[in-house]
Amino acid sequence: MGTLSGKRALVLGVANERSIAWGIAQALANEGAHIGLTYVGETLERRVRPLAEKIGADVLGSCDVTDDGQIEQLLGEVQSQWGRLDVLVHAIAFAQRDDLTGRFVDTSREGFRLALDVSAYSLVALTRAAMPLLCESGGSVLTLTFAGSERVFPNYNVMGVAKAALESSVRYLAADVGPDGVRVNAISAGPIKTLSAAGIRNFRDMLHVAEERAPLRRNVSADDVGRLAAALAGPAGHGVTGQVLYADGGLSILGV
Ligand code: NAP
Repeated sequence: MGTLSGKRALVLGVANERSIAWGIAQALANEGAHIGLTYVGETLERRVRPLAEKIGADVLGSCDVTDDGQIEQLLGEVQSQWGRLDVLVHAIAFAQRDDLTGRFVDTSREGFRLALDVSAYSLVALTRAAMPLLCESGGSVLTLTFAGSERVFPNYNVMGVAKAALESSVRYLAADVGPDGVRVNAISAGPIKTLSAAGIRNFRDMLHVAEERAPLRRNVSADDVGRLAAALAGPAGHGVTGQVLYADGGLSILGV
């Protein structure tokens, strides 16, 4: 029996089989959790449904996290189909392509607003909407971040600022919902080749540097992140909240 046997996990952010959310969904399913996936728009639905079938997941509908109505509808669907929620995974980020190249100082007001809304505020909105279900089960909320929140990475720009807001939100949310028995944490992953990552100019350089210099001398995979997520959601993580845990082959410990 897996460590998450009988648990229900809602995973947002599966775009394709390279997505970190897909690595997480598979790892949670391997530990016995029943998975629910979402998509944004019909094209993504066509990609998500075959993946859901592979792990026996439910597809719980479309959810654009900039729309509070869609968030409410999604959690209503979870309530009516499952009647409970133990794990909420937020693996979502977005910034305009123009804002992931060149100088941060050139970020527009609208580009800044959009990146922060999709990539950081959505965690707050989702956690609030899920709380009535999560607090009944002593649930766990997990999000994904990157070291660009603390240090400057070329072209990461407004996404670094959004990740800083996301990590701070993790701490404030953890303090708010902890008394109800709900935990909130983030995994800071090293660079992984995904659809979103392809939008960051010269992302390949980040992969090369990480592989060359990280103490483990390799890039991490979505599976590596997935296994850590499953541990955090399970009994191994029961005393952990408000934390940012690094899954980056040790890259973040280096001074130069
Ligand atoms: P990904 O496969 O492209 O996943 C990003 C997901 O965000 C997609 O499913 C995307 O859906 C979704 N999304 C964007 N805007 C949305 C919205 N308004 N509503 C709902 N969903 C929306 O890329 P990923 O690399 O796995 O990213 C997952 C998370 O990991 C992100 O938070 C990312 O910043 C973080 N992360 C990534 C890396 C890396 O190197 N790849 C490293 C550290 C952290 P659409 O495709 O429909 O837009």
